[in-house]
Amino acid sequence: MNRYKIAAVNGDGIGHEIVPVGLQVLNTVADRFGFQLEVTHFPWGAGYYREHGDFMPADGLDTLRQFDAIYFGAVGLPDVDDTLPAMLYTFKVRTNFQQYVNYRPVKLLAGIEGPLRNKTGQDIDFVVIRENNEGEFVQNGKIVHGDSPYGVATDTSVFTRFGIERIAHYSFQLARRRRKHVTNVTKSNTLIHSLAYWDRVIGEVAAQYPDVTYRKMYVDAASANFVLRPEIFDVVLTTNMIGDILSDLGGAIMGSLGYGPSGNINPERTFPSMFEPIHGSAPDIAGKGIANPIGQIWSGALMLEHLGETEAAGAVLSAINAVTAQGLRTADMGGTATTQQVGEAICAELRNHA
Ligand code: ATP
Ligand code: MG
Repeated sequence: MNRYKIAAVNGDGIGHEIVPVGLQVLNTVADRFGFQLEVTHFPWGAGYYREHGDFMPADGLDTLRQFDAIYFGAVGLPDVDDTLPAMLYTFKVRTNFQQYVNYRPVKLLAGIEGPLRNKTGQDIDFVVIRENNEGEFVQNGKIVHGDSPYGVATDTSVFTRFGIERIAHYSFQLARRRRKHVTNVTKSNTLIHSLAYWDRVIGEVAAQYPDVTYRKMYVDAASANFVLRPEIFDVVLTTNMIGDILSDLGGAIMGSLGYGPSGNINPERTFPSMFEPIHGSAPDIAGKGIANPIGQIWSGALMLEHLGETEAAGAVLSAINAVTAQGLRTADMGGTATTQQVGEAICAELRNHA
């Protein structure tokens, strides 16, 4: 029997409610498909920071390294400054574990009235591939004379050929398994060094995949097209910051941020990958048991896929769709179902269709 070692980090806020429900679904599907998850819990996050002065212990990365995957909730508390270096934990995990792919599917679930469903009359099914290790988010900058009338602040983006090539290859290979279409979302008409280089290197990689259609689109136009013509996208390849912004728009297209899943993936499997919903810890609704757990549960399906349990991953996604088709909705979608009820309905689907 296959056994996988999973590190579970609830984080803060609704993370404490949705991660346990996600694990319940994962254990249910593991029973059905005959594999085992050996889960170890870590109480890390902003709450841990308040007591220990850091998001995780100094040897936290060494601890995580021993796992097959990390199942993560969300981090952040209203009274903990989220610009503190220690709070940039995901950055630390993502870079140290070379999770250079941020994989964010945007797909309408069955029965959900996304804001665009009626408008396009077509199904929305694309994936945002966000470069996750470099670009605009390398925190390379400074504030000089900030309090004076002559204050100056800079952040310098860093793009490397190595970094661009590997995310490009990942995207084109992914497109081959999908509808064979890559859209590079860029802003090279104004960021004339960094993103012009990005475009050049991606163009070179694109030439190695003649069977995949390649198109370049500026982010302003892409934002408009996300809303007006979402059906034209298949694989959306973009930089760290543009991807961060566009994938929240993708979450909104799905009807609620609560539906959005993500994977921080190290394709070479040299290090564990990390799976988490796209939303934050939602302190405004924490502790009420009403958070939408589907983004967390779907992230679990992405984790199973990464671990090679493809059939089990498909079963989780089918069960999610069966439950959304039945009309079960949490408060973010105007319903009255609790986090627990949605989780249990998905588990019941998984058991019933064994
Ligand atoms: P972060 O900076 O960590 O991304 P954020 O400030 O963007 O966090 P979120 O925590 O994502 O904020 O919450 C944004 C809004 O979406 C809040 O009103 C929150 O209640 C709602 N929300 C987020 N996730 C969920 C969920 N799973 N279910 C229901 N509502 C949610
Ligand atoms: Mg956010």
